[in-house]
Amino acid sequence: MSTRTITIYDTTLRDGAQGEGISFSSADKVRIAERLDAFGVHYIEGGWPGSNPKDLDFFGAVAARKFKHAKISAFGSTRRAKIKCAHDPQVDALVKAGTPVVTLVGKTWSLHVAEVLRTTPAENLAMIADTVRYFKQLGKEVIYDAEHFFDGYKDDPRYALATLKAAQDAGADVVVLCDTNGGYLPAEVGPITAAVRKALKCSVGIHTHNDSGLAVANALAAVEQGASQVQGTINGYGERTGNCNLMSVIPCLVLKMGVACGIPKENLRHLRELSLFVDDLANVRHDIKQPFVGASAFAHKGGIHVNAVEKVARSYEHIAPEVVGNRRRVLVSELSGRSNVLMKAHELGVVLDKDAPEVRDILHQLKQLEHAGYEFEAADASFHILVKKLLKRHKPFFNLLGYRVIMDKYGDNGRSIVEASVKLSVRGEVVHTAAEGDGPVNALDSAFRQALLKFYPSIAAVRLVDYKVRILDSQTGTAAKTRVMIESTDGNEIWGTIGVSDNIIEASWEALVDSVEYKLFKDEQKR
Ligand SMILES: [Zn+2]
Repeated sequence: MSTRTITIYDTTLRDGAQGEGISFSSADKVRIAERLDAFGVHYIEGGWPGSNPKDLDFFGAVAARKFKHAKISAFGSTRRAKIKCAHDPQVDALVKAGTPVVTLVGKTWSLHVAEVLRTTPAENLAMIADTVRYFKQLGKEVIYDAEHFFDGYKDDPRYALATLKAAQDAGADVVVLCDTNGGYLPAEVGPITAAVRKALKCSVGIHTHNDSGLAVANALAAVEQGASQVQGTINGYGERTGNCNLMSVIPCLVLKMGVACGIPKENLRHLRELSLFVDDLANVRHDIKQPFVGASAFAHKGGIHVNAVEKVARSYEHIAPEVVGNRRRVLVSELSGRSNVLMKAHELGVVLDKDAPEVRDILHQLKQLEHAGYEFEAADASFHILVKKLLKRHKPFFNLLGYRVIMDKYGDNGRSIVEASVKLSVRGEVVHTAAEGDGPVNALDSAFRQALLKFYPSIAAVRLVDYKVRILDSQTGTAAKTRVMIESTDGNEIWGTIGVSDNIIEASWEALVDSVEYKLFKDEQKR
């Protein structure tokens, strides 16, 4: 067991969000950052404020939050050629992000210096040194990402090292070697990392892309040669074929190399959950073949007696699946499901024994719902309500008497108008409200909220922050099902709910009801 600690630097929210089909709302980003923090990563890169002004929203939203482990980093580049840092708007946006850490990307490769920056090698060194020094003087921790490092090193090792030294001498805390094009082999990354370590005094990190399918292998090769920071993304999201997948590199470091990376073995059990959570928020179908965390990662074809399979399965598995929160698929182990149920029950103030009949009922119901298309990884509020219902602890805040959604559109270019009406009984009183909206869900949400407002004024603070629809594969040969996921906030907390139905409006209604009930339940608990 080695004594050094590797720091894990997550760039899902910046480099990961550059992946095709990946996009996160500000609310998603905050939820992901909170999960990453709870999991135990050291750094969370939130975005590039200079290139994407929307990212400033995220930095504003996290500024007031307390993170247990993670430091939030803002990403930006070295100053432009021939101007002062103080006059560079991109540098200024980075200052405005107000993060404790900044990550600066700069050029290593003389080809890029001449062709892309159109400046001299000497000016590039000054740009690196000035910008690093500028942020050090502001009291920030500075991580320097050396773009195209390996290409630059192969082309001109002396200049490539000079760029790193410029960053180091200006006070950079870590210099990170980037395989930006993702083309290198572990047999090259290892020795080059060793050479850099020899030439420098400061810590060295590694940032790899997966264009040759080797991002994880390359990161591990660098760690073997003394790199002490690994940058990557959840599920390997990222441009082209993606970045180094933290879902693989973390278990490799901890379980196979015996290298501490600040993530306790206990938390490793949440690895699969974290992977699914981020997929759900990105609205990406989970890759069942993903190493460690995929549904097939420990699936064995059955057909043999269960006991025999258990013996055989062990000899066919590289690690015990539970260690990363996964499970063997033949021998349906319900251990992780059970502890999840027990934890939720505990939150509700119910102490259950793990063998209690209620736990079995909940697991049974959960399986049926999952089969029907529900996923609760990101719909924690719906899961909460489900457990409450099954424990017979749920008392409804209202009864639905009916709802109706009408849409009118006249002519090709006519505006469409959607009107929804909702009829509820609340505390013995019947309320009937109607509202218009941009679309059916919006109209239904407004009418629903209006109906409840008189009885539950705190509902006024609740807003929908995101709405995601996914058509599920038809398994029954009948109509495909629609899954709706809603994220809501009351300004303090953000929670997720889910609805599944053949009908998109019914699925949305289900998710809306859970969202409101969760808020009312939380309020009741506070009183
Ligand atoms: Zn990158």
